[in-house]
Formats: sequence, structure tokens, C-alpha cells
Amino acid sequence: MAIQTQLLKAREVAQASEAQLHNEVHKFKAHFSVSPQLAVVLVGHDPASQVYVRRKHETCHKLGIRSVKIELHPDITEKELLHHIQRLNADPDIDGILVQMPLPSHLDAKKIIEGIDPLKDVDGLTTSNLGALVAGNAKAVSCTPKGVISLLKFYDIQLKGLNCAVVGRSLIVGKPMALLLQQEDATVTMCHSATRNLKGILQQMDLVVIAAGKPMLFGKEFFREGAVVVDVGIHRIDNGQICGDLKATEMNGHLLAYTPVPGGVGPMTIISLMENVVKLAFNRRSNLK
Ligand code: NAD
Repeated sequence: MAIQTQLLKAREVAQASEAQLHNEVHKFKAHFSVSPQLAVVLVGHDPASQVYVRRKHETCHKLGIRSVKIELHPDITEKELLHHIQRLNADPDIDGILVQMPLPSHLDAKKIIEGIDPLKDVDGLTTSNLGALVAGNAKAVSCTPKGVISLLKFYDIQLKGLNCAVVGRSLIVGKPMALLLQQEDATVTMCHSATRNLKGILQQMDLVVIAAGKPMLFGKEFFREGAVVVDVGIHRIDNGQICGDLKATEMNGHLLAYTPVPGGVGPMTIISLMENVVKLAFNRRSNLK
């Protein structure tokens, strides 16, 4: 009998989380007499980055979080950019700092991220926060992996004991994703561009998170029937359409569930960002009192 494939859409989860965040922001305002504030640093004029930054500001606005955009020239030097970040670090009215990636190639992203005060690092990407994640006590967890876990939990997918694979080992997605799945008691295999027999490995898995960044590379032959797949990839292809790393049209009737692109992981990333802003704002301002 053909499997009834479920689409793991973010919309309902996002609505529930937004309602909760609204209350948190309300409590915050009542306690500190201001709302939390996010600073987003955008270097250059990358159109996709501009869209992402605009969405973040719109969501902040919707939730009553203040947000400020610092737009910088694409030719800015590392020293100048670090200076802007230091200024935001020192500003007591800024609760979270996000540097929109990718940065122009002359800038060392790692060095720039390390310049962010870990107490304001809403992306959870500083070495300090990544180390805390390994130790299981991170103050802010990278937004996309955090959002994936929230999405899976919302749809009641029990992770304990599952055989899971993560495809991709970036600091922003793959590595924290594997750690979070492990913390949920899943058994995790990390795969990447040098993995041998990728298809053979993935075919054994109950759940696969794909973050390879390769448009529509993964057809149904990579997954066992009845598996769950989370597609983190997001690409605009030649005809202007948005797609993920999955060949989504092949998945119906084969997978138990998968995340659509758009409408799956993307909105969850923004919600996680908002959760991190509010959490870091509470932590830092409580300690200042
Ligand atoms: P990245 O390029 O830094 O990392 C890609 C990883 O995939 C690498 O570790 C590489 O080893 C691995 N890889 C590449 N090709 C592979 C292959 N053929 N087989 C196995 N492994 C392979 O990318 P990233 O920053 O982790 O992002 C991955 C994708 O997720 C991109 O499409 C990005 O746009 C998307 N993304 C989406 C969101 C969201 O909110 N939806 C957030 C972050 C990233």
C-alpha cells in the first residue's frame, strides 16, 4: 500500500511559537520597561541577503522586538567591520547581534563572528557558544538546527533511539545539527563531501537531515521507504523557482514525511532567531540589574 506522505510545514509551528514569544516580549517590557533589541549587520548588496534581513526585521516588528539594520559598504575592511561590532557589543541597549552571511570574500567570517560578544551572539556561532553546545549548556543554539528540532517535536517525531544522518558538516548547520540530535538520544552519522557510499548509508536511516547545499541532488533512491527527511537546502534555480536539496516531486508515496522548500526549515530559522534574541535579552539584562 502506498505511504501517505506528510509535509512538515512550518506555518502552524511558527504561529504557536509567535504567540508564546509575544507573551515573553510582553513580560520583558513589563520588567525592563523596554523591548529587546536586535542589531543586524549587512555588508554589501547581495539580493538574497537583503530579502533575509528584511524578513527578520518584519518578524521582529510583528513580535514587538526592536531591530536596527547596520548597512555597510561591500569594500569595508575587517578592522572597520570589527569596530562596528565592538560598538554594538558595548551598547547596553543592544541585546543580540547578527552578521548576515555570506560576507564578501575579502572578509574572514570566522574572525568577524569571534568579534561578537558571546552574550549577544544570537546565531550561537562564536567558539564560546559552540563549545557550550558540545557541553550541553549553550545559551544560544544556532538557529537553523534549533528550528529543525522544534519542527520535528511539533510533529511528534520521537527522536530517541532513531538512526539519523546529517549530510553536511558546516558550523552553521551540520555540526550543531548532529549535536542536537545526539542530545535528543538519536544515534547520529555525519556525512559530507568525502563520505564513501553516501547512498548506502542514507538508505539505512530513519531520519536524514540534508544540508549539502546542492539543488535537487537527492532523489528517492537515497532513502528507505517510510523514512523522514528534513531538507535544509534552499536555492533559486534558473526558472526563478525556489527548491531544496531534495527532488521533492519524487518523495510523495515514498517517505513518511519531509519538509517542503519553501515553507519548511526557513521560517523555523527565523523563529529560532527571535527565541534567541528574547532569551539572551532576559539573561543579560537580568545580570545587569
Ligand atoms: P556549506 O556549503 O557551508 O556546507 C555544505 C556541506 O555539505 C559541507 O560540509 C560539504 O561537505 C557537504 N556536501 C556538499 N556536497 C555534498 C555531497 N554531494 N554529498 C555529501 N555532502 C556534501 O553550506 P551550509 O551553510 O551548511 O548550508 C547548506 C544549505 O542549507 C545551503 O543550501 C544553504 O543555503 C541552506 N541553508 C538554509 C537555511 C535555512 O534557514 N533554510 C539556513 C542555513 C543554510
